[in-house]
Order: sequence, then C-alpha cells, then structure tokens
Amino acid sequence: MSYDDVEIEDMEWNEELQAYTFPCPCGDLFQITKDDLRLGEEIARCPSCSLYITVIYNAEDFADDKSKKKSNLAPSKQQTVAVA
Ligand SMILES: [Zn+2]
Repeated sequence: MSYDDVEIEDMEWNEELQAYTFPCPCGDLFQITKDDLRLGEEIARCPSCSLYITVIYNAEDFADDKSKKKSNLAPSKQQTVAVA
C-alpha cells in the first residue's frame, strides 16, 4: 500500500539526484525522475526502505518536454579509414 499521496508541487527537485524528492519517514527521500513521469509512472520509491508514495501530477506537463529535446538521433559518420 502507498504510504501517502503527494502532489508534484509539494515535492522538491533535487539537482544531484535528477529526481523529484519527498522526505521519507525513515530519513531518506522518496524519488521519482522526469523520465519516470514521462512514462506515466506515479510511484516514487525510497531507496532505503520499502515505502513508496503515489505522485499526483499532470502527465501532459512532462510529455511535452521530451518532443522538444530529441536531437541525439544523428550519429556522425566520421570514421577515418586509413587505406594504404
Ligand atoms: Zn524510507
């Protein structure tokens, strides 16, 4: 069972973890990444115990973000082949 329901606005963005976090009663942090949110994941887990929370958010807020940043699909062919 989920420990709690938490709105994304009440969570804190952690630059180091690259994840939204929320204090866990065990002293660690519940964590969920933007990738998780884009995929529709709504469970933020604590790495130190078995608790988790259900994150309440608008999936569209995160879905848009991805389509704008798709620019790593063009591998450059710069293989220098030494032919004697
Ligand atoms: Zn915990």
